[in-house]
Amino acid sequence: MRLLIMGPPGAGKGTQSAIIGEHYRIPAISTGNIFRLAITNRTPLGERIKRIISEGGYVPDSLTLKVVVSRLNEPDAADGWLLDGFPRTARQVNALDAELAKDGAALDAVVSITADEEAIIHRMLKRAEIEGRPDDNEETIRNRMEVYHEQTDPLLDIYRERGMLVEVDGMGTVDEVSARVLAALAERLGR
Ligand code: AMP
Repeated sequence: MRLLIMGPPGAGKGTQSAIIGEHYRIPAISTGNIFRLAITNRTPLGERIKRIISEGGYVPDSLTLKVVVSRLNEPDAADGWLLDGFPRTARQVNALDAELAKDGAALDAVVSITADEEAIIHRMLKRAEIEGRPDDNEETIRNRMEVYHEQTDPLLDIYRERGMLVEVDGMGTVDEVSARVLAALAERLGR
């Protein structure tokens, strides 16, 4: 099973990914988490990207693609995965297509979590107080939203045209949303 989860920052992709990953027994792979870990561990990658992330911009495609390709080649990802936060640019979509083609593999579905923007900005600001992420002040959050609109939101059309998009309303409690996600995926995938 190969899935993507997409949606604006703060829509709850990370939380839903963990639930979907557990349900289908596939690793939920978050580029954002990989990058945050690199920053925490002060690896060379972390040092290169910490400023970009703290400002809410996108890590360059070349770096992002290296990270993703190497993660997808780990043994636990051999039979499937759920990618959370990737692809985010048109170039990443093409690179993912090429990676899949190498293995003669294909995506099964793309989950799109939709949400009211002002509500999620409010939710992110609240989460920022609790979690203290490096990219969590108001200016950064607004910038992340803008970058998302410019670069990532248009990618949904690509997957919609391919007939792969499974759109789910992301407003409500975690349980409400995950019930919707799992029901929509079960209907689409037949399992
Ligand atoms: P996330 O946890 O998915 O919201 O990602 C947090 C931050 O990591 C983003 O705001 C970007 O700066 C960076 N990031 C995560 N995934 C990608 C990606 N696929 N391409 C570029 N930057 C990314």
